[in-house]
Amino acid sequence: MRKPILAGNWKMNNNIEESIELVKKLTRQEYPVDRDIVICPPFTALYAVGELIEDTRIKLGAQNIFFENKGAFTGEISPLMLKDLGVEYVIVGHSERRQFFNETDETINLKVKAAQGHDMIPILCVGESLAQREGQIAENIVKQQLLGGLKDISDAMASKLVLAYEPIWAIGTGRTATSQQANEMIAYIRSILSQIFGEDKAQEIRIQYGGSVKPENITDLMKQPDIDGALVGGASLQAEDFQKIINYQENK
Ligand code: PEP
Repeated sequence: MRKPILAGNWKMNNNIEESIELVKKLTRQEYPVDRDIVICPPFTALYAVGELIEDTRIKLGAQNIFFENKGAFTGEISPLMLKDLGVEYVIVGHSERRQFFNETDETINLKVKAAQGHDMIPILCVGESLAQREGQIAENIVKQQLLGGLKDISDAMASKLVLAYEPIWAIGTGRTATSQQANEMIAYIRSILSQIFGEDKAQEIRIQYGGSVKPENITDLMKQPDIDGALVGGASLQAEDFQKIINYQENK
């Protein structure tokens, strides 16, 4: 049984005060113990948020990582710095980073290894654009991202990994993949994971869906057999919405 994982990606939103306000609302509630909860604030709020979620069910995540430990890399944040802040999860290869910051499968692979090498769990994002889906090459694109991003990751390390299927056309657009479309691609991702790590490991790895997840569609998405959670952007900025998403009714 894979434990569902609900993660909030705050992106480049919320200053320290706003982050504290949001996290205080989130920590006021108890959540079902059968699921993991992660929030990924911007770097500038990680320390303050980390302090407030210590000893709660909510885990700290970062939105990016650099793959060197230290040195002349102006503007980058190292795995050691994230560890120092108590970060346990790191989003890697988000489509916005691929698109706006030219991240390649090669650098994403180095980031996956850097996170795992420092005992943090990468949430590796993959997903196709609308043109790629319409051109019927979505599976090829996702396969390429998986093979590149997971290159030379050992079977042992496969247990320290979360995947997120995020079709670019559904991110921040209000246009969600149907739960069937999401499940189909996630099942395909699992079949590729099985080729890479073997069937047993592939059955262990959690794969989230991301793309306009809201309180209104989470239940339906979580009904799908291969969907193990959600990576939530916009709706994770509203405490009430994110809480409703976390508290979806168990229904598999
Ligand atoms: C995301 O940023 O990973 C995301 C899925 O955003 P949204 O939920 O706003 O579509």
